[in-house]
Amino acid sequence: MARYTGPQCRLCRRETEKLFLKGDRCFTEKCAVERRQYPPGQHGQRRGKLSDYGVQLREKQKVRNSYGVLEKQFRKYFEKAESKKGVTGEVLLQLLETRMDNVVYRMGFAPNRNSARQLVRHGHFFVNGRDVSIPSYHVRAGDMVEVRQPSRELDMIKDSIARAEQRGLPSWVEMDFQNFKGKVLQVPTREDIQLTAQEQLIVELYSK
Ligand code: SF4
Repeated sequence: MARYTGPQCRLCRRETEKLFLKGDRCFTEKCAVERRQYPPGQHGQRRGKLSDYGVQLREKQKVRNSYGVLEKQFRKYFEKAESKKGVTGEVLLQLLETRMDNVVYRMGFAPNRNSARQLVRHGHFFVNGRDVSIPSYHVRAGDMVEVRQPSRELDMIKDSIARAEQRGLPSWVEMDFQNFKGKVLQVPTREDIQLTAQEQLIVELYSK
């Protein structure tokens, strides 16, 4: 599956907001948003007020880039969210949040979603005892995610767990780091999803 391979920090700078795409660096003063608080490019410092459409578009791009999903796939998530019961914007975020790569990241097995995606693709995880190597795999409430035995020696996973233990974890997962396992207790509610986004603007954008 295709993915964005350009500079990560540029995506944050475009939104003039931290999207936490790089892990540890995002929490230091080396973060590009901390150092240059204006959009990238020649006219970055001169951009005027955004139109309503511009505001909606930026919100969509922010959420899409946060989860590392390309436009076509993001649109499919929106269509799926629209067809489900509930508030479309919230369901959309729930669908993105329960992607396998995001769950691995939220559980603290990877420093960021990009690394989580790579770990998943390289087959380092089981879900309910079965191999899952598809980053977009939909994880459900009650599912048990586990690091495969040989992969438990990977420095990236061990370091990430150590950091996750310090920083804390979302309430919708329950971790057993001793055994490199985590359980999804429930589908996260909007309050559980740590993302500063106005998802209603995305719904407005796609409903035009
Ligand atoms: Fe974004 Fe992290 Fe780069 Fe800062 S360091 S700009 S939060 S990816």
